[in-house]
Amino acid sequence: MDRQAMGLTLTANGFVPTVRPGALAVAATRPVIRGYVALTFDDGPSAGTGVVLNILAEAQARATFFFVGGGVETDWRYASRAALAGHAIGNHSYSHPDLAAIPLKDAAVELGRTQAAITRYTGAVPMLGRPPFGSANEDVVRLFREYGVEPVLWAYNPEDNAGQAAAAIGAAVLGAVRDGDIVLLHCAQRETQRMLPELISGLRARGLEPGRIEITGEYQERNHSYARAVAW
Ligand SMILES: [Zn+2]
Repeated sequence: MDRQAMGLTLTANGFVPTVRPGALAVAATRPVIRGYVALTFDDGPSAGTGVVLNILAEAQARATFFFVGGGVETDWRYASRAALAGHAIGNHSYSHPDLAAIPLKDAAVELGRTQAAITRYTGAVPMLGRPPFGSANEDVVRLFREYGVEPVLWAYNPEDNAGQAAAAIGAAVLGAVRDGDIVLLHCAQRETQRMLPELISGLRARGLEPGRIEITGEYQERNHSYARAVAW
């Protein structure tokens, strides 16, 4: 066996591990990354988006924002800021209807106007989308894809818009998620904003780093989508 390949060096005292100077110091302060969890924030942009962006910047973490097109046209500064900070932006319809409950031609207008608004104010064409309420039928899924957008649901929804306390939301997410999961959050929720710094540090303590959403060829049961969280 090639002893060099094993990271061992033969010395007078026997085999000792070869470690680059400083390598252990890095390992001691930063836990090994064992997986990725995608944090997604729905229903912006709004002033709450700005709060979330500040927290993410402080934590040096990135997330995915599913923006409503009507909000992008009025609060475009937050949409632009999110894109400039390197976050992913997705299409969450124009006025947040149940896309499966309205005529398909109206759903097409919802998605098309939002693609145009996000592209105009962020310079990027969205490739991810999220149907409001997670509601989609086959026609709606096909419609998303006609716009080059993959509809993405989630593995875990802590129901952060149901009036729960910050600590309960954070603990629920940390207890539920594993590598590859997508988590549904809302950027306008005060309790979500409050728990976010601790959620990110809690994930990292478990070896889970906030990741981006990758579209996959295979259906991901946990995320109920052809998508999973991976490294940025
Ligand atoms: Zn929504």
